Amino acid sequence: MSDQGILAVVSGFSGAGKGTLMKELLSRYDNYALSVSATTRSPREGEAHGREYFFVTEEEFDRMVREEQLLEYARYVKHSYGTPKSYVMEQLQAGKDVILEIEIQGALKVKEKFPETLLLFVSAPDAAELRRRLTGRGSESEEVIRERLARAKEEADGMDRYDYLLINDDLDACVEEMHRIIQAQHARMSNNRRFVEKIRGELAEC
Ligand code: 5GP
Repeated sequence: MSDQGILAVVSGFSGAGKGTLMKELLSRYDNYALSVSATTRSPREGEAHGREYFFVTEEEFDRMVREEQLLEYARYVKHSYGTPKSYVMEQLQAGKDVILEIEIQGALKVKEKFPETLLLFVSAPDAAELRRRLTGRGSESEEVIRERLARAKEEADGMDRYDYLLINDDLDACVEEMHRIIQAQHARMSNNRRFVEKIRGELAEC
């Protein structure tokens, strides 16, 4: 048993299918905890407060920032998004592997604070497929789709700062690959300090 849970950040272009991937991962394996972010954007059809996001006003969001309740926060296409700190810390200490599904600026801030964080980047197989998925969602205006594609170009500039790339072509294969990568982190020496101390102590007595 490694010292604590793995903190994994999943980012990717809007339309890469991160949401579906996360749902599938959580339904297949029970050691994951998905962090629920706060956002100032409005709920989409089918989204519920406290499940997909905590939907808050600008004032509430600013208060969370002032009171240092957020592990990181960033602006994305005219809205603020942030990760509540306490839930993440509690779950990691309880040994859960915590997943933050956040954009790139936030991901890099988390990595700065916690260098052991695993950064995973999810992409669709190509740009045409991304556009198709964004349009097919039907919930966004042409303007928002354009903004999200512009943002994807910016994110592509930073994607090579991530540790692993996952191409979401076949959902099933992508979920399994993500699971394998995260689980492999448990074997990292840096996440096994307790074991190292224990065996050193035992050997000292031999
Ligand atoms: P959406 O509006 O499509 O739900 O999310 C827009 C973007 O915000 C996505 O790239 C998503 O990963 C990111 N995001 C969601 N929650 C957070 C958060 O707490 N922090 C940051 N930095 N990005 C977030």
